[in-house]
Amino acid sequence: MLAGHFGVAGIVKAWRPGIPMAALLVATQLTDLVTLPLAAAGVETLEPAEPGLTGYGSLLITAEYSHSLSVNVLLAVLVGGLVHYFLRDRWGRDAGLVVGGVMLSHWLLDLLVHRPDLPFLPGNAGDLPLLGFGLWETPVAAAAVEGALVLAGVVLYTWRTLRDQPGRGRAWGYSAGIALLLVGSFVFDLLG
Ligand SMILES: [Zn+2]
Repeated sequence: MLAGHFGVAGIVKAWRPGIPMAALLVATQLTDLVTLPLAAAGVETLEPAEPGLTGYGSLLITAEYSHSLSVNVLLAVLVGGLVHYFLRDRWGRDAGLVVGGVMLSHWLLDLLVHRPDLPFLPGNAGDLPLLGFGLWETPVAAAAVEGALVLAGVVLYTWRTLRDQPGRGRAWGYSAGIALLLVGSFVFDLLG
């Protein structure tokens, strides 16, 4: 899921326009951005949940470091703390809390769609039960949730940008760019 996370960024941007959209987009995907180098190094893996299974929602993601609950809470506190300390005068008094929450939203959305592959602790220390409600097992339902997030993200972002930007042409330009990113990444997700 790329697009659903981006959708959250669009929704939050409409609610807290003082926080740059680029920061929100990165915050929603930071967990997966940590996965990429670990996957490249072979520490974490993305494989079909069953042999031969392809398409939307077909992956079993063994990402025991980047996608462990404790690592994500720690990262959210760390990044939120940095934003609060350095950027609250520019982005708003509660920007640290908002950015930290947006970061954590990645793990919570993953919890909804992933098959049980999300550990509490890094490396699944202590062999605790793995988490995930597995909505990807029903791809139509998962796609409906993700599509709703994309739609809400595009509509709310566009509404707020048109309201706040003095230049209409520029506001439509930004909105078109965000719509392209969100809808494009949704198509990418659906194609698996
Ligand atoms: Zn993820």
